[in-house]
Amino acid sequence: MDIFKGQNLLEFSDRFKTDGDCKEYLALIKAKTAYKCLKCSHTACQKRKDLSTECNICRHIESPTANTLFHKVKFGVRKAFFICFEMSTSTKGLSASYMAVRYDVTEKTARLFMLKVREAMSSSQNFPMDGDVHVDEFVLGGREDNKVGRSYNSKKKKAITAIQLTQDGKVKRMYAMKIEDFSAQSLQYIFIRHISKQAKVVTDKWRGYRPIAKAYDITQIESNKGLNFKALHTMIHKVKSWIRTTYSWVSDFNINRYFNEFCFRINRSQSKETIFDNLINRMVKADTIYQAKIIRK
Ligand SMILES: [Zn+2]
Repeated sequence: MDIFKGQNLLEFSDRFKTDGDCKEYLALIKAKTAYKCLKCSHTACQKRKDLSTECNICRHIESPTANTLFHKVKFGVRKAFFICFEMSTSTKGLSASYMAVRYDVTEKTARLFMLKVREAMSSSQNFPMDGDVHVDEFVLGGREDNKVGRSYNSKKKKAITAIQLTQDGKVKRMYAMKIEDFSAQSLQYIFIRHISKQAKVVTDKWRGYRPIAKAYDITQIESNKGLNFKALHTMIHKVKSWIRTTYSWVSDFNINRYFNEFCFRINRSQSKETIFDNLINRMVKADTIYQAKIIRK
């Protein structure tokens, strides 16, 4: 069986007509990694007709959805596949209320499943950005005014973002994350998680970056009202307006998941052919996320 390629909805619905078609796809992905019984860790099993596997020692039966983010999805794997397809191939990002209407599930159910998908979209952190990287902070929510200085006590959500540029100044990759404040202590995390020490980093003159420059190759230049960071500021504008128009309210608890989704699509805009398969592989490999981890406390 081939992997599903492309973004064509008709081809997609022809390929995945039933829950069984989807389970077959999951079973195929699982079969690419060596079998290990979830109960007793034995490494040999029998394949059953319903696509599940049965351990040769303890007889534990594992369904294709077990231990994946499709586990116990109440509305069926097929709807879940369609939601994954829409979330990975759309350019905008879609709200839970829209998905609820389109797939006839409750908004709460749609929201919970979409949070799992966003979790699967998070970066592996295995491929830090190198080359030319621009970094800046921004605020989300509240009145949109021009940034004048950095306020430490503002109630607005604070975030930091980094982009890697191509040789002709276009965006190659992007990461963003929530931060508590604009101190070096907080700013450093995007460097630790997503930026290689070999990268040539450029920031504006904010003093918070100075301590980080001891460990990273950072050049600080005048922002010139953003003109020196054009590609970066375009991306900041895009992520802010996407969040503002798609989600009326985004909690602190979930903001990083929305950034994950946005960056997942940006970082794969050159590989749209395989973006759905990439996401499903991540859904299979991600550790099962329990609702407790996803529901806002
Ligand atoms: Zn077993």
